[in-house]
Amino acid sequence: MRLGLFGGSFNPIHLGHLRAAVEVREAFNLDRLLLIPSAHPPHKERRDMAEAIDRLKMVDLAVQNVPFLEACNIELTRPAPSYTIDTLRYFHNHSDPRSAIYFVVGIDAFSEINTWKSYRELLATAHFIVMTRPGPRVKNLQGFIHTNISSQYEYRPESNEYRHPQWYSIFCFDITHLDISATQIREKVRLGRSIRFLVPDAVEYFIMKKGLYK
Ligand code: ATP
Repeated sequence: MRLGLFGGSFNPIHLGHLRAAVEVREAFNLDRLLLIPSAHPPHKERRDMAEAIDRLKMVDLAVQNVPFLEACNIELTRPAPSYTIDTLRYFHNHSDPRSAIYFVVGIDAFSEINTWKSYRELLATAHFIVMTRPGPRVKNLQGFIHTNISSQYEYRPESNEYRHPQWYSIFCFDITHLDISATQIREKVRLGRSIRFLVPDAVEYFIMKKGLYK
């Protein structure tokens, strides 16, 4: 089993997240890719944050009829704050030992990984897929990894992968980065502008019906 975990605040989930998820799923031939809304994201402002249960519902609506993608409520079952390490430990301990676990994260979020709780343990618990797009951030990635995580990673160009002698790999993967952000969507809703074609129709309908982000 090749299991992917894609965490985020998903406030709300949008087509940028979904297109990236589909591309990662295909490229890494994942059997399942779970989209995991963070219930109480330690790094995000609370203001403007929809209830976790609504963000989960929107993820669920967004992946209806999308093969291999699933919404996962695991972070809603734990008290605050939501730490990724607890989620990774859970899947690590509850998966078949032959399973490979891949944690999917955008380069923006990965560039701050040294501020996450037990971040070295994260990298010793699962593979990471860092979603990249060509640019200066990617060029600096090796320096960042060596300085902040471990100098023992070695780059393998053929697989665009940083390999570590004891820990799991960090894969870089270029996605089609649609220039969409949840911030921009919340702002549009507040201003009464359309969010059509930025989020799935069912998510747009849910936001309107519940009056979120007003
Ligand atoms: P916000 O604007 O509220 O900060 P966001 O749109 O960046 O939110 P998050 O839920 O914080 O969304 O992101 C979850 C993950 O998805 C992060 O790893 C982030 O890097 C990645 N991501 C965000 N937007 C995109 C996008 N347009 N394309 C691909 N990945 C994205």
